[in-house]
Amino acid sequence: MMPSPRLTFDLDRIEHNARTITGLCGDHGIRVTGVTKCVCGHPAVARAMLRGGVADIGDSRLENIRRMREAGIESPFVLVRLPPLSGAEQVVECTDASLNSEPALLRRLSVAADDRGQVHEVMLMVDLGDLREGLWPSDLPSVVAEAAQLPGIRVRGLGVNLACFAGVVPTEKHMNRLVSLAEEIEESLGIELAYISGLNSSGLELLEAGSVHPRVNHARIGEAILLGRETTQRRPWPGTHQDAFTLHAEVLELKTKPSQPVGERGEDAFGGTPRFEERGDILHALLNVGREDVDVAGITPLVPGVRILGASSGYLILDVSALAGKLRIGGELTFALNYSALLRAMTSEYVKKQPVRNGVPVNSRGV
Ligand SMILES: *Cc1c(COP(=O)(O)O)cnc(C)c1O
Repeated sequence: MMPSPRLTFDLDRIEHNARTITGLCGDHGIRVTGVTKCVCGHPAVARAMLRGGVADIGDSRLENIRRMREAGIESPFVLVRLPPLSGAEQVVECTDASLNSEPALLRRLSVAADDRGQVHEVMLMVDLGDLREGLWPSDLPSVVAEAAQLPGIRVRGLGVNLACFAGVVPTEKHMNRLVSLAEEIEESLGIELAYISGLNSSGLELLEAGSVHPRVNHARIGEAILLGRETTQRRPWPGTHQDAFTLHAEVLELKTKPSQPVGERGEDAFGGTPRFEERGDILHALLNVGREDVDVAGITPLVPGVRILGASSGYLILDVSALAGKLRIGGELTFALNYSALLRAMTSEYVKKQPVRNGVPVNSRGV
């Protein structure tokens, strides 16, 4: 019997998606860092991305980067989250580059790298309005000037991240602004910035429309490779698979019950007050996956007619009337996942991870 609950992922589809995205980016002179944070740095996924043409791997957690290194993946690794002051030494030790916005960090990374006789590359992040990481443009020149003369670090370039926090949609204007900031810096400091990193999965439409300034030469892409979608409207991206990942959960209880609760109602286990539609008696199923394992709002049953009623920490509760006579105790239902659901399922220790190729399970190294 296969372990349950489990998340299966098709490495050939991920590789194919990576090839589609790196092909599009390559046509516009853009190198791609494949971002593995949503899969907790699963080595098999990183390998599939690399086979599909990403130049290197980016992750937000050192633990994930260590995991990939220990699995024998030979690639440069970029920390795509700001490093903590308390962990600058480890960042220098186990990554080749990191994204930065704080002078105190740059100084600490400089000392840590210089002590080890290394050069750590930094991508300085600029905030063009999404209000997550990055220097405000007016503060950028002085920080780059300081960074450029610190020993042990090399300024690899400038980056911007849009869409992730405030949902600001990237535009041609944002890209032009990023390039003009970079060129002002190059001129005033007499240096050349190797990378101008303007895009994540939210920038694919802009890129395809030909609206990305030709000096933008780097993208950091996660979701479009993993789930085959751009991220401003979550449109399926042409030539990619949206179904590389599938969640499987097992039926623990199957009974005909009323569709309405019986008795006076207060709050549920999570402080909510769920609503129930009157549908008479329904075939009610409890599955062995819950809020501790997945973002329930982000999963969709793959069998038409099956309805998710809700979830507690360990149970998913469904109306499976559409499957009357077809479902058994010990049987499984499958679900598609969005980014949030995938992130949580990959992070849950209780969900087994099963890479597959051509439908056949392979080991966790992806071979
Ligand atoms: C997560 C992340 C990415 C990847 O974003 P996607 O939308 O998954 O492509 C890129 N850059 C940074 C800084 C990130 O944190």
